[in-house]
Amino acid sequence: MRITCPNCTAGFEIPTELLGRKGRSLKCATCGHSWFQAAVIDEIDLADVLA
Ligand SMILES: [Zn+2]
Repeated sequence: MRITCPNCTAGFEIPTELLGRKGRSLKCATCGHSWFQAAVIDEIDLADVLA
């Protein structure tokens, strides 16, 4: 997945599985800023839930 550093807006392409199920802390390779990157939640189709 594509992520962007919230501090310097540098973009990085990382394997989605690197974040695990809940996400993880990342450190920018450009500016050294650390932040928590949440994992992408699987989309739920409400039509299937409400049917
Ligand atoms: Zn950065």
